[in-house]
Amino acid sequence: MLVPRYGYPAQFDDVDGLTRSITDLMLSGDHILGKPVEQFEHAFADYCGARHAVGLNSGTDALILALHALGVGPGDEVVTVANTFHSTVLAIARVGATPVLVDCTGTDYMMDVDLLEAAVTPRTRAVVAVHMFGEVLDMDRITAFTGKHGLALVEDCAQAVGARRGGRPVGTFGDIGCFSFHPSKNLAAAGDSGAAVTGDPALAERLRRLRGLGQQGQNDHVELGYSSRMDSVQALVLSHKLPRLDGWNRSRRALAERYTAALAGSAVTVPPASDAHVFHMFQTVVPERDRTLAALREAGVDAVVRYPVPIPRQPAFAPYAFDADAFPHADFLAHNALCLPLRPDMDDDDIDLVAGTLRSITG
Ligand SMILES: *Cc1c(COP(=O)(O)O)cnc(C)c1O
Repeated sequence: MLVPRYGYPAQFDDVDGLTRSITDLMLSGDHILGKPVEQFEHAFADYCGARHAVGLNSGTDALILALHALGVGPGDEVVTVANTFHSTVLAIARVGATPVLVDCTGTDYMMDVDLLEAAVTPRTRAVVAVHMFGEVLDMDRITAFTGKHGLALVEDCAQAVGARRGGRPVGTFGDIGCFSFHPSKNLAAAGDSGAAVTGDPALAERLRRLRGLGQQGQNDHVELGYSSRMDSVQALVLSHKLPRLDGWNRSRRALAERYTAALAGSAVTVPPASDAHVFHMFQTVVPERDRTLAALREAGVDAVVRYPVPIPRQPAFAPYAFDADAFPHADFLAHNALCLPLRPDMDDDDIDLVAGTLRSITG
């Protein structure tokens, strides 16, 4: 690809130093929940302004363990947004609760907070607020809503690590914030990895117990847990990269502004963005999406669709019998959205090249 989506070589300051620390780790045998994990957990908690960070093996597991730790289970309903990634809703189903969906808006494609009230029933226990694309939801409105109804609040920050709203980092507005360090995300491990942050020491302890087979101490399995620990090698990679995350997110914002300016007045729609947006994706709405996607890829631009099948239409969720026609904005996005490549190491020429190519394709 002429303009690829990911650029890993640019993510390491001192790859030899990192390699040496990985070699030392291999020889030490400190592989699971070792010192590197503890160090990363401290650094990440500090970074998020959270009291506790718990290292896990993926963002999906962070969501599952968060809901489990909050006591969400069978008989409970959990509200989230219809255009999220599969994992958000999978997590709700995995703990035995019933997912309830609200549509996104037709402007910024974030959860439509106006629809939350109508989604509440006597069984509603929690909301999973998803900071889609790297944009931050209006957490004042959402915490007012969950407070009013006495609901637990989990933030799915998989796409928004490092984003802050009013100076406050995502993940700290609700009970538990869930993060993914999947290699595609803004802070990328070298494999699957994730974390949960919380200000509540009891929740932190429960998360730690759940990730380690429900053990309180060695061989003292006090509840049914999971095997979901962060690997030490991932913690080393993440600690190496964390100090640069703010700089990368600033670059993403600057490049996104350039895309927006370069596409102004074209047939391509760029959703409005708040000051908090960290542009995990640069989402656009384009005419004749599938043809446009094919032409862009043909021209060497690594554009993708996120996501072509909205939650209500995914076969895996058939048991919940969602009314698939009740989410017109999520449907619209699935058919018309196109994500352009956006890496922190791109330069203005790369952006102009992609925008120019897209302009000429869409006329
Ligand atoms: C990536 C992602 C997840 C899942 O994270 P993994 O680490 O891949 O398990 C969950 N929610 C959203 C919104 C995501 O984008």
